[in-house]
Amino acid sequence: MLSEKRKAYMKEYRKKNREQISKYQRDWNDKNNEKMKLYHRKYRKDNRDKTISSVRKYQKDNPDKIKAQRKAHNLLPILSGKLCERCNKRKAVDRHHEDYNNPLEVMFVCVKCHKEIHLEKRLNSGREQKEKQ
Ligand SMILES: [Zn+2]
Ligand SMILES: [Zn+2]
Repeated sequence: MLSEKRKAYMKEYRKKNREQISKYQRDWNDKNNEKMKLYHRKYRKDNRDKTISSVRKYQKDNPDKIKAQRKAHNLLPILSGKLCERCNKRKAVDRHHEDYNNPLEVMFVCVKCHKEIHLEKRLNSGREQKEKQ
């Protein structure tokens, strides 16, 4: 049998402990919230930097492409109702350059065909490279 004194002590002990635990949890939450905030902030910042630098890198690596695209965009508007020159079914929304040295020689194509053209080009150049080796 616990004495009344002991019971009171245990009660007090649990109460204190509970307070300590909840205080600990509160601190932890505060700290963690702060950490998560910092983490997200850093993530956003890193990602923005990455996106910007990858765009810059792309522009630096493909100056002809960018120039050709810009020139075609300014000088060769895609007429509304124009159909894709490849499939003749869907609306033309993109300009495809066979050769970026001839910026005004473009094919008006739909997104799907444009993707396919580039996929085919990639596959072909891959094959050529393999044949050369
Ligand atoms: Zn098409
Ligand atoms: Zn293209």
